[in-house]
Amino acid sequence: MSQIVRSKCNLKDVVREIKKKNSTIGLVPTMGALHKGHLSLVQMSIMQYDVTVVTIFVNPAQFNSSHDLDKYPRTEKHDIELLIGAKCDIIFIPRADEIYQFDPSVSLSFGHLETLMEAIYRPGHFNGVGLIVMKLFGLVEPNGAYFGQKDLQQFKIISSLVDDFELPITLHMAPIVREINGLAMSSRNRRLKESQIDVASKIYSTLKMAEKSLKEGVGILVVKKNVEKLFSNESSMELEYFEIVQFETLQNISVVNEGDRLALCLAAFVADVRLIDNIIIEI
Ligand code: AMP
Repeated sequence: MSQIVRSKCNLKDVVREIKKKNSTIGLVPTMGALHKGHLSLVQMSIMQYDVTVVTIFVNPAQFNSSHDLDKYPRTEKHDIELLIGAKCDIIFIPRADEIYQFDPSVSLSFGHLETLMEAIYRPGHFNGVGLIVMKLFGLVEPNGAYFGQKDLQQFKIISSLVDDFELPITLHMAPIVREINGLAMSSRNRRLKESQIDVASKIYSTLKMAEKSLKEGVGILVVKKNVEKLFSNESSMELEYFEIVQFETLQNISVVNEGDRLALCLAAFVADVRLIDNIIIEI
């Protein structure tokens, strides 16, 4: 039976009891509006750890647009039903005023990871992500935590936190779950009309096209130009960035070498809905 916990104090009691039994804890942080992508993380955690804690918290600190925060889908009742169905053990749904009872005095920055992609277009975003993840790590004391490849840069940032602070937490990166048309599942997809979902599926086909070109030896600049051209021909979609980076470091590269492991990362707007996606490829 799933247990719903809404306050930090109750969560601490629950965690204490779990630790007394020497049970392991897997954590899956989410912002709710759950879909099969989220549930895949939950299933992995359930397989690996004795107790799985899923958090549902739309973290205001990681939104740099109040419009995006206001429009973020909130479907708590349905989320709880899905998590009960998935046999999640603990569902933590805190209130923002308890999580941010005091303004944080710490701020986090992540070196070169702050100089590219999401960090450029969403200033302050990763400080907000880092703060909430550290809070959740402190509250839940997990042995392992699950994050999606979909937010690849976020995963790298959380890896830096774990490494730099020597946190005794194993991080797991889960593959991207997609719709049949290739569109990466996202809570924000709920805001798309059917015709926009078709348009948005071109994000994935563009990434696959870029992969094919790179594997055929087409140069980086040409591949980038081709992606930009594809988007400029698409009036209902606007490209924010398309980057070809080293998978491990997310560093930009100027030439592709055989054996390289790369991430192709893209962000685009479909109407006012911002979507991100990526694929990891080996040359
Ligand atoms: P969010 O609720 O968007 O913050 O996502 C919570 C976690 O689920 C993050 O670690 C995401 O990377 C992950 N996630 C989101 N969408 C997907 C997806 N389509 N497939 C797998 N994981 C996902």
